[in-house]
Amino acid sequence: MVKHYIIKDGKLIRTNPFCPRCGAGVFMAARGGWWSCGKCGDRYHQKIFNFKAEIKSNKGISGEG
Ligand SMILES: [Zn+2]
Repeated sequence: MVKHYIIKDGKLIRTNPFCPRCGAGVFMAARGGWWSCGKCGDRYHQKIFNFKAEIKSNKGISGEG
């Protein structure tokens, strides 16, 4: 299972974007400069789909997976 979160300085950081089509909970993976959704197959160029890692608190980490 690929980790889409990292813990840094006690903060939860989301490193991958959610798929705009599939919605929250479905991550896209970085592939050759593209974000690629493993569920619907949509691809978005990383220069167009500009994603910044989101910092979240430790609260609300779900065990979904
Ligand atoms: Zn998708």
